[in-house]
Amino acid sequence: MSQKCIIIGMSHAGIHLATSLRQYGWQGEILMIGNEDILPYHRPPLSKGFLKKQSNIALIHPESDFEKYQIQFRLSTSVDFIQIHNKSIVLDSGEEINYDKLALCTGGRVRKLNIRGSTLKGIHYLRDIRDAQKLREHLKYVKKVVIIGAGFIGLEIAAVLIEQGIKVTVLEVNSRILSRNLDVVMSNYFIQLHAEHGVEIKTNIDIREIQGKHHVESVICDDGSKFDADSVIIGIGVIPNVELALTADLEVENGIVVDKFACTSNVDIVAAGDCTLFPSDHLQRSVRMECLANAADQAKTAAATLSGNSIPHSALPWFWSEQYDKRLQIAGVIDHYDQVIIRQDFTNGGFSRLYFEGNVLKMAVCVNSAKDFIASKQLIVQKPAIDLKLVQTEANLKQCVLKK
Ligand code: NAP
Repeated sequence: MSQKCIIIGMSHAGIHLATSLRQYGWQGEILMIGNEDILPYHRPPLSKGFLKKQSNIALIHPESDFEKYQIQFRLSTSVDFIQIHNKSIVLDSGEEINYDKLALCTGGRVRKLNIRGSTLKGIHYLRDIRDAQKLREHLKYVKKVVIIGAGFIGLEIAAVLIEQGIKVTVLEVNSRILSRNLDVVMSNYFIQLHAEHGVEIKTNIDIREIQGKHHVESVICDDGSKFDADSVIIGIGVIPNVELALTADLEVENGIVVDKFACTSNVDIVAAGDCTLFPSDHLQRSVRMECLANAADQAKTAAATLSGNSIPHSALPWFWSEQYDKRLQIAGVIDHYDQVIIRQDFTNGGFSRLYFEGNVLKMAVCVNSAKDFIASKQLIVQKPAIDLKLVQTEANLKQCVLKK
């Protein structure tokens, strides 16, 4: 009898898992369930081109591919719980559906700010297409915005808004911005970049309350400072959606715990993407990673596992961001390094910062330097010994590998 795999979450991880299942030879049924009313789409443009009205929503696969891959889907559908005793899921409608294999690609949701005034009109979060449409519409009427949180979401939105002539202030609780992904030097670089474009960024600041009658009027901080705003946009991080996993008694910490084969503590259930806590080859410890490249790779691993193959998840994580005319690309993540080498990219007016442990490249942060980014991804994975003197010249990075 044909086996059935249910994938919960029409996320980036979910759709990669579904198509990879077919590539690994899964013959049975595939059913994807998601609570949005749209097929899986690209989220990165939401805080960039989509907000600028330069691009519209782009599906990851056209609907016809679902036919080709024989993937069924149910939109606008929530799963309430998993029953492991009879291998079924129960939908919010009460309907029960049996599975042979189950994949959780439930992603994350925005962390909410719970302070006085945080439910006033004019407050926005940005995670999905509906949030982005609402924000894009609202921006037509806005002159002054306060953004809370200086992560990628906050800063990408700041760059879009200031170019639309909106006054922007960004408030960050930490002593520096983008601290999850970048070192102090790069935090300062982005502070300076935003300052040059007229964005005011305040760090080390605690928000006390948002004031307004029905609609936002200002943001008040613990140090007594007050910032007037006719809109507040909050980007203070993401919480993994683990509740469903808990209904199946799966092991959960800061994410659904999976092994390097994306298997949860139940042999018939895998998980992939932002919702998982997994053993990272690169960091040599368990991590939860909010990263598209990681989600896609882990989804492939999960599909391999479900179809009886064993392909460990070990791809290099990488990230990118666009702010103004700068394209930031980060290859790798590290806890430790002992030397940073800076290279200029004379062709594109960019630069890269290369983080070494001994003479092995561990991470690269590139700004308008795609050539170094591409070379770095390869060198970080292959770990060859590198001629650090040559790196400091204009030599192509790939040619800086020491001969054995
Ligand atoms: P984020 O990267 O976690 O950054 C949020 C920032 O807000 C952190 O510095 C956080 O500090 C700070 N913060 C937390 N509470 C605060 C408070 N009460 N007041 C002021 N600041 C506060 O999250 P995000 O920018 O919201 O992005 C959400 C997700 O989307 C992330 O997974 C992000 O990677 C992803 N995303 C990625 C891209 C990209 O790769 N280009 C673009 C957009 C979004 P703590 O670290 O101390 O909590």
